[in-house]
Amino acid sequence: MRPWIPVAVSFKACAVALAFSHHPAAALLAFFAPDPWIFMQFVLARSQAFGPAVTRFATPRREVWLTIDDGPHPESTPAVLELLRGHGARATFFLVGEQVRSHPELARRIAAEGHGIGNHTLSHPAWSFWSALPGRTAHEIDGCVAALLLSNAPFQRLFRPPVGVRNPFLDPLLASRGMRLVLWSARGFDGGRRRPPAALRAISRGIRPGAILLAHEGGPGASRRREFLALLLDHLSREGYSCVIPEDGDLRC
Ligand SMILES: [Zn+2]
Repeated sequence: MRPWIPVAVSFKACAVALAFSHHPAAALLAFFAPDPWIFMQFVLARSQAFGPAVTRFATPRREVWLTIDDGPHPESTPAVLELLRGHGARATFFLVGEQVRSHPELARRIAAEGHGIGNHTLSHPAWSFWSALPGRTAHEIDGCVAALLLSNAPFQRLFRPPVGVRNPFLDPLLASRGMRLVLWSARGFDGGRRRPPAALRAISRGIRPGAILLAHEGGPGASRRREFLALLLDHLSREGYSCVIPEDGDLRC
């Protein structure tokens, strides 16, 4: 068990004791005191309380690792591959298992063009993955693995949860499968309503050698996401950065 769990539980037990000893204000404070910290462990990429999360890689050169989530999509993946080819960039695509089942040829094409493939769950349960119990968490991991195996596309033992939100059962399940959790160093929130130039300004603050960059493809904002990716690749070229796929031994938490 992670050491922070008994600490957090102790706060709640203290609150109950204080309430019984007629200190309601102190009880309220003790009850909620650890919660902002616990919330951050679910949602912040750099938090490590639920287990190690890769957020950068070691390199002496001007190199970044571009990661593209939420594919494959027949409307966007071919265009994204063309953009990457035009910039001589390599990327890792974190794919959703159900979409791989529908478009296995796109998964094979991603790999054939020299890019990496990681696991982004079977069904991308963005709002409920944080509360998934071990059985459902395992189903999401293994379902995506099964879809990738059926597609015949080679893939890496890398996992990224939907919207980067973890749950307390994820780390042991990944460890028992020899998989690593990969999050990011910088993102532009290109999946929302933010305009691509604003998303580029946001992500560029985190661009440095060894950064892991998060982008997306497909979905309702597909054209904005593609425009963002084009701006990002132009920016990286201007700044003298190469998009590479790092070796396992260079990954850092
Ligand atoms: Zn996603």
